Amino acid sequence: MDNLLLGVKQFKDEIYPEYKQLFESLKSQQSPHTLFIGCSDSRLIPDLITRSMPGDLFVVRNIANIVPKYRLSEEYLATTSAIEFAVLGLNVKNIVVCGHSNCGGCRALVQQEQFKNMPHTIKWLEQSSEIIKNIGSNFNDDKIFEEIEKQNIILQLNNLMTYPFIKEKYVSNSVNIYGWYFDIGSGTVFSYNKLTNQFEKLD
Ligand SMILES: [Zn+2]
Repeated sequence: MDNLLLGVKQFKDEIYPEYKQLFESLKSQQSPHTLFIGCSDSRLIPDLITRSMPGDLFVVRNIANIVPKYRLSEEYLATTSAIEFAVLGLNVKNIVVCGHSNCGGCRALVQQEQFKNMPHTIKWLEQSSEIIKNIGSNFNDDKIFEEIEKQNIILQLNNLMTYPFIKEKYVSNSVNIYGWYFDIGSGTVFSYNKLTNQFEKLD
């Protein structure tokens, strides 16, 4: 906790003055260009890896960067409502779904016994369980996990298309959609190319 309090103080005393004008210009409105849907993992920091500033990104994070399939519901749908608000309320121009290496959520898809006291986590990840059927069974191989993490990103890109208002905007080129994979150790971002079905390094 001391680290957090020290951070808050340092922000106010040292960082804020540097960006005072920017914060003041944002005090009564926002117009982010991008909806960033990322994993909650502490090592994936959207603003840091994109060098973004306050006002740039509208961020939604959850375990394994999942985009729930669109549905109308009486439940409280956090991710779905955030997507709806970003696209219809804020008119973002880009949507990025960003997964990452060594994703605990993706591992939980195939190592459920370690998560058996976390029923909500297991339930949440059910939304991505279909990718496991198409993947090999040698789960001792890190390459398999990388493949699961990447297939999971592609699944979420497809799920975005189940949102009628996103599909409409995508078809009319009003919104761009990207699938990113962040490799933690090397700090490299790879972007999904639908034409080659590969994740290609962003330079
Ligand atoms: Zn993750």
